[in-house]
Amino acid sequence: MSDVMKTLGLTQLEKALPVLFEQARQQKMTYETFLQRALDAEVEGRNLRAAQRRIQAARLPVTKTLESFDFSFQPSISERLVRELADLSFVQTTTNVIFLGPPGVGKTHLCIALAVKALAAGHSALFTTLSQLAEALETASYPSLVRQRLRRYTTPSVLIIDEVGYTRLTPEQSHHFFELVTARYEHGSILLTSNTSFSEWGNLLGNEVLATALLDRLLHHAEVLSVTGRSYRMKDRLSANSVSVKP
Ligand code: ADP
Ligand code: MG
Repeated sequence: MSDVMKTLGLTQLEKALPVLFEQARQQKMTYETFLQRALDAEVEGRNLRAAQRRIQAARLPVTKTLESFDFSFQPSISERLVRELADLSFVQTTTNVIFLGPPGVGKTHLCIALAVKALAAGHSALFTTLSQLAEALETASYPSLVRQRLRRYTTPSVLIIDEVGYTRLTPEQSHHFFELVTARYEHGSILLTSNTSFSEWGNLLGNEVLATALLDRLLHHAEVLSVTGRSYRMKDRLSANSVSVKP
């Protein structure tokens, strides 16, 4: 029987079968119930494996959740808007979500948390920083490899591009970044974080005209969240200091 299940690719059922047999004996299951449970075990197992594969493929650097985000610490972020985004209609409408603000205010946390929601709902996602992305595309030395690498970033439903602004791009990298944003425009959402205001993107890309065209596509269907609060990373240090200076 094990061979037949292997031939049919029923690997999840094969794993679940010993327990199912035991339950069937104990609960005196009908044939119908047993068959239903056996098929359910295969489907559930497959769904679980697909979900695990999706999560691995997303390459999230850490797992963050909306539940662990303290909105009271960051009043400049609209909790209502973030919760609306978490219903994932932005994925369907291929709307981009841009988080602007200084370091430590939770930009990456919120992007990852939204990606976690999207993954749980069955969407694909991929996390990258702009410098990783630029490097991956630049080191592809011939055009077909560039196209192949680009596809890696165009196929996921949700692409996170983190830390835009820390690296100035070479002309070639800027061109690839533009190509990617153009390829995803109205096809797939981008979640992007930046410490740099849009007016500086000309400098960042080394090309004002390209930056304007890129921002035009990026912002056409986008929610922009500007975060102006304090760094969460410094929270404990600041409160520790304030405790220590108290008499
Ligand atoms: P940014 O990307 O804006 O530099 P991060 O999202 O990396 O900041 O946040 C820095 C650290 O602080 C992370 O560990 C993150 O989980 C945590 N953090 C930031 N803001 C909050 C918040 N409001 N509630 C809970 N944790 C937060
Ligand atoms: Mg960050």
